[in-house]
Amino acid sequence: MSFIRRAALASAALLMVAQPVLAQTPAKPAAVQKAAPKAAPKAIKKAAPVSDFAPSADIIKTHMAFLADDLLEGREAGTRGYDIAANYVAAQYALLGVKPAAGNGGYLQRVPLISFRPAGEGAMTVTGADGQSVALTFGEDFLPTPQAQAADLTVEAPVVFVGYGVVDPTRNRDDYAGLDVKGKIVVMLNGAPASIQTEERAHLSSPNTKRTEAEKRGAIGVITLSTASGEKRRPFKAGVAGMKAWRVVWRNAQDVGSIRAPGAPALASLSQAGAAKLFAGAAGSLDAAMAEAEKPEGMVKGFALATKVKIELKTEIQKSESSNVVGVIEGSDPTLKAQTIILSAHLDHIGIKPNAKPGEDAINNGALDNASGIATLLEVARGFKNSKIRPKRSIVLLAVTAEEKGLVGSDYFANNPTVKKADIAANVNLDMPVLLYPFSDVIAFGSDRSTIGDVVKRAAGRVGIGVSPDPLPEEGLFTRSDHYRFVEQGVPSVFLMTGFQNGGEKGFTTFLKTNYHKPADDLNQPIDYQAAARFALVNYEIARELANTPARPVWKKGDFFGGAFAPAGHPSAAK
Ligand SMILES: [Zn+2]
Repeated sequence: MSFIRRAALASAALLMVAQPVLAQTPAKPAAVQKAAPKAAPKAIKKAAPVSDFAPSADIIKTHMAFLADDLLEGREAGTRGYDIAANYVAAQYALLGVKPAAGNGGYLQRVPLISFRPAGEGAMTVTGADGQSVALTFGEDFLPTPQAQAADLTVEAPVVFVGYGVVDPTRNRDDYAGLDVKGKIVVMLNGAPASIQTEERAHLSSPNTKRTEAEKRGAIGVITLSTASGEKRRPFKAGVAGMKAWRVVWRNAQDVGSIRAPGAPALASLSQAGAAKLFAGAAGSLDAAMAEAEKPEGMVKGFALATKVKIELKTEIQKSESSNVVGVIEGSDPTLKAQTIILSAHLDHIGIKPNAKPGEDAINNGALDNASGIATLLEVARGFKNSKIRPKRSIVLLAVTAEEKGLVGSDYFANNPTVKKADIAANVNLDMPVLLYPFSDVIAFGSDRSTIGDVVKRAAGRVGIGVSPDPLPEEGLFTRSDHYRFVEQGVPSVFLMTGFQNGGEKGFTTFLKTNYHKPADDLNQPIDYQAAARFALVNYEIARELANTPARPVWKKGDFFGGAFAPAGHPSAAK
């Protein structure tokens, strides 16, 4: 799972994870102490035999033992370790009798990748109404943004401040109202106002969403600036240290990085000092805007600046390749078999820790992130192949690459599917099941937004476990894993996390603090393989019901994401 999209955000994100838990349960410390003698997790009784499938803890353990072995060197996308893992998954598909579905006769869908980062400091000059130019200082005033589409880019234009740059018709909000940004560079605040529901805020504050709105209005580039509270969470100076980290996207048919809204690329980020220079002589006040941004509604009013900006960027670019692993279990119903239920999990992890000390364990094995998800996917596939009753819709098994680089392999598949896009009926994603305790509930991200919610409740009920609300709403986790790339194509999707009951909260938060994205996420953890088998069973039951129910899943009427990505006419639009 991507608790963080970029390494530079790591510490901030971990703090963000810890806070909502404490905030939601203020009486926690005392309660934990008192309850401690009773707090040992209960063993979960075997579910009543309502399913035709009994997942095997031993088989899941075997898959994880291979995938999380040191020999695979952390399965980073683009490395040999990842390719071995992909080969393993393909071999398992073949053993199960799952048909190749990569569109080329095989199981491996080639995913061309591009890595890019700033080459040097770049240059940024601000020219005032009086014609006087000031060069901004790298690392003090601004940081250059690397470009996925051009090693050299120069943009020069007048500048318009657009507040948060949020456009949300469901809230009657258009931060561009009354502003002309055609042919201009826009400056916008990072994030979105705090009053917006967290998952919707995650979408509205995403640079992809914001740049799309900027491009629609004719802007030719975007400069970003943190709010005061954003600066506290993620200081500008931390960006200087993180600047050399590679970013990764897939390459398009023109062999350049595929980015959203290429007409309005992100160009640079500003510090408060840099912003002050840009806003010099403007009709509106930067201070007033910053103060308004802190209010829950954050109705920051934009205005044209008096300055013109010239930005020169140089980007270091490297090309590489990886692959998604795609197989299909064909459906049995003559009509419904054309539709697919996509079962996805990311196969990649973050590779070898840089700058390890001699003798230190440097391999990020990713046992629970996400060898566990892939092992679950393979075991669910075995369930379908062993069942006497074939699923009515077809089941696509999709092990994706480069999730850890920003949901890149899933984005590639969602944009270049090897099955008909309009026939993708649902996505069930498996990411980072924390299988360290006998979980007794699950959290089903996104399920309440579509008719999948009822399917999840029935499936969990059959297995004898509960469905709990999101315990970490501030994280906006619905938008942070591979299923979200399908959501962006309008596909109703769900992904399950093991819940916080029965020792889960402690198990999960401890994992996040001490093992997540570290070499300690390995097979030495006390993995509960019986819990793993139960997790596979819930997911199998969800996928089976989705495959067999006559009605195709649809978004709920008025749902934000259904409205944004599956408007009327989309096969999954609300009925
Ligand atoms: Zn991860």
